[in-house]
Amino acid sequence: MPIPRSLLCGLTNHEEYYSIRAAEASCLELDAPTVGDLLRDVAAHHQDFCGCGAQPGHNVWLSDWIMHDSASTIGVSTSNFKPCALDTRLEDLASWVAAHLDAFHLLVEGIPPTERPVPMPEPEIFRYRGATLIRMPGTTQSLTVLTSDADVDYEATYKLPGRLFVDKSLFVGLHGTNYDKTAWLPVIRRPSGFGKTWFLSLIERFLDIEQYGGPFPSAGFALPVGFTPRLGRTNLVIHMDLEKLCLSPNMSEAELRGVCREFLDKVATDTYLRYSHWLHDADDDRRLESVTFAHLIRLGRRYYRRFFVGVDNYTSPLFDHPASRELFEDVMMSEIFQRVFNLHEGGVVQRGFVVGRDIPDYPWPYDRSASFNDLTVNLCDDFMGYITLGMTEDEIYLLGTTLFGSESPFLRQVREKAGMSDSELEAPTRTGMSYCTRDVMALARALSEPSSRVAAFPTNIAYVKFGDYPRGPPLPDWCYSSVAEDIDEEEFLRLMEEEEQFAMCLPRSPRQSQQ
Ligand SMILES: [Zn+2]
Repeated sequence: MPIPRSLLCGLTNHEEYYSIRAAEASCLELDAPTVGDLLRDVAAHHQDFCGCGAQPGHNVWLSDWIMHDSASTIGVSTSNFKPCALDTRLEDLASWVAAHLDAFHLLVEGIPPTERPVPMPEPEIFRYRGATLIRMPGTTQSLTVLTSDADVDYEATYKLPGRLFVDKSLFVGLHGTNYDKTAWLPVIRRPSGFGKTWFLSLIERFLDIEQYGGPFPSAGFALPVGFTPRLGRTNLVIHMDLEKLCLSPNMSEAELRGVCREFLDKVATDTYLRYSHWLHDADDDRRLESVTFAHLIRLGRRYYRRFFVGVDNYTSPLFDHPASRELFEDVMMSEIFQRVFNLHEGGVVQRGFVVGRDIPDYPWPYDRSASFNDLTVNLCDDFMGYITLGMTEDEIYLLGTTLFGSESPFLRQVREKAGMSDSELEAPTRTGMSYCTRDVMALARALSEPSSRVAAFPTNIAYVKFGDYPRGPPLPDWCYSSVAEDIDEEEFLRLMEEEEQFAMCLPRSPRQSQQ
């Protein structure tokens, strides 16, 4: 018998409507999928589409329950249903499905979450035009109210009582970054202090499966603008900080490649340790101490997990040794970026985001590589890029009125400190200006402290202006639409095979070679 693709499966003890059809399940790709295989898909699917936090248990019943008035399965008794063994082949359920067309054919035990996330008190939200500030609930000593240089982690920041910060959650779904097979990896460079790492951390936490349904302070947007269902909020986040990749001009090319591979394996191990319970069966106690990058990807694929890749400091390795820059770029391209590109092409990596510092007199890092140019979207000179990082004048005005009252000359003080001419000081709020967050916050902290003298801005680049960055190639039209393409299965398998072969060439530790 063929597998009944219309087989409908639900969860017991579930408050709202939830179902998955066999046709939606990845286990249909297997030779002879069983109810146990489907169960794994139910777990992943439910995580993706429902925020209730319930987990499917291991009890499954053959059901003829038909939903009438209520979509809830709370109170639906399973005592008259026949338990269904996990090794039952789906194809053996074909006649049951055919005989009960309108019913939920399988009901899986739904186990409510043991601990619900503690609801946070509501943050205070301040708005002015396009700007939003968030003040977290709770009191704190005045000087620690503002975000500081030490705040590079979004999750840590928003947990600090009384913390006041600019809300950039609107930009999680940056335009030009909707799911697209062609170019999909947005890149923004800005000087130090503009809040790149903090913003990357914000995106990562919003898309993180561990944080699903978590208490994100944002200005009341249910889903940030530009969110596509395809992107989801259930990614395993691979975070790469290329500042930790130590390339030396004394190394041979082979050694440089080796360092890149070790770096990726370290990144993979960190990722694995954070998400190991998403990469194992519930009753599998084989927790590994380390994994290679290729192994991480294999596990992700086995458990139908998708990855988001955040790359911080992507220009760092290029700073100190200009003479080795091209070699470093080539090696990082083929060992790191190309592998990420391939994994995206294969559908394992959903999306990513890349940030880094500007390199003086070097406008287009990695631009000798065609694939880097084709597969990334440069937001450095894009208007959206200007208001995503750093602080806009609206945001500075709002910060000033929030801290010092509506008559506050704070914006003017910022402009003055930024070294603007007299005529610019009175200019109306302009668009496309982005001030260094570190500088603005330093000034705000200094002004909050009555006795303190206001020092000069700590950075050399107090602001960037729309037009400061060399124009890249125009963004193609599809950047502005959100067309989701289906993954080409054949291509997916080919790329995975390539990744496997790549993995074969890597030196392995004795422990890893046992697997
Ligand atoms: Zn649910």
